[in-house]
Amino acid sequence: MSELILEAKHVTKKYPASGGRTLTANNDINLSIYKGKTLGIVGESGCGKSTFMRMAISLEAPTEGEILFHGKSILGLKGEELRQHRQNIQMVFQDPTAAFNPKMKIMDIICEPLLNFKHIKKSEKEEVARKYLELVELPGDFATRYPHNMSGGQRQRVGIARALTLEPEIILCDEATSALDVSVQKNIIELLVKLQKEKDIAFGFICHDMALVQSFAHQVAVMYLGNIVEVLPGSSVAEDSKHPYTQALIGSIFDLNMDFSKPIESIDSEAPSPLDVPVGCPFQNRCDRCMEICKKERPTLKNVAENHQVACHLYQEVEG
Ligand code: ADP
Ligand code: MG
Repeated sequence: MSELILEAKHVTKKYPASGGRTLTANNDINLSIYKGKTLGIVGESGCGKSTFMRMAISLEAPTEGEILFHGKSILGLKGEELRQHRQNIQMVFQDPTAAFNPKMKIMDIICEPLLNFKHIKKSEKEEVARKYLELVELPGDFATRYPHNMSGGQRQRVGIARALTLEPEIILCDEATSALDVSVQKNIIELLVKLQKEKDIAFGFICHDMALVQSFAHQVAVMYLGNIVEVLPGSSVAEDSKHPYTQALIGSIFDLNMDFSKPIESIDSEAPSPLDVPVGCPFQNRCDRCMEICKKERPTLKNVAENHQVACHLYQEVEG
């Protein structure tokens, strides 16, 4: 891999819940984002993907653990330092309609971050917006439009254009293509891959669709009930994945009519509540290969091959 930019070390996030209970949304997460590469995070709805994202962009602080940006902790950043740091990591959300102010023209939406940081003058807005529109393959004339006069895919391109303006090292996309038709989704992914090559941007791409993520992510991290259960290159997911949960996700890819927000067909029971995570492996009650040890001891991530880690008692650590 290339240069390490963002590193999450033993990151845990707990929320207080009713009745004095605690909800563990992220449990001891270790993940790395590398320059110019894509980390895909995949898992069912509610497994903790957005929680991780919010901590990575410093919107929330972990309960335990550290987040390093170029080796330096970002957890203590406050005020102006935090504001300046935010330029380094930008976000693209699932629903740009909700993220954009409907009364703002596209040029105002795209240029807002640049104006906030005083990188451009108001008089330069239209010219700059046109440049970014062309970068995301939209006509420059869209600068004077309003968001409601665009399709979902076009709005998402505007969201990407806006995220690019501050020249961030990392762009985090949270279900950024999930609301789009499959063909539009494919075009947006092609755009992201092109921009990544041109600008050496790192992407964190959060998604519940394994078929999509594995098609372009350099690393895929599979998340289950707040835990990372497997990390491997996207290109090896189909052939080399080992965790029974990852394999269940792949099995479900071939059901074309599958609604990924529903529990997976090929697994009988539902995921336990994050309020009530069992002792031992979080996947034990849905795993058809569950052993005695899985009910007692939580498996940690082990290296099973180069760039491939699995948290499952079925597999042993490989030295080297
Ligand atoms: P995903 O993005 O994978 O769908 P989330 O990160 O949104 O999952 O949520 C993970 C778990 O944490 C869920 O059970 C959710 O209800 C809970 N959660 C998320 N944010 C909060 C919060 N601010 N307060 C309490 N619980 C939360
Ligand atoms: Mg989410």
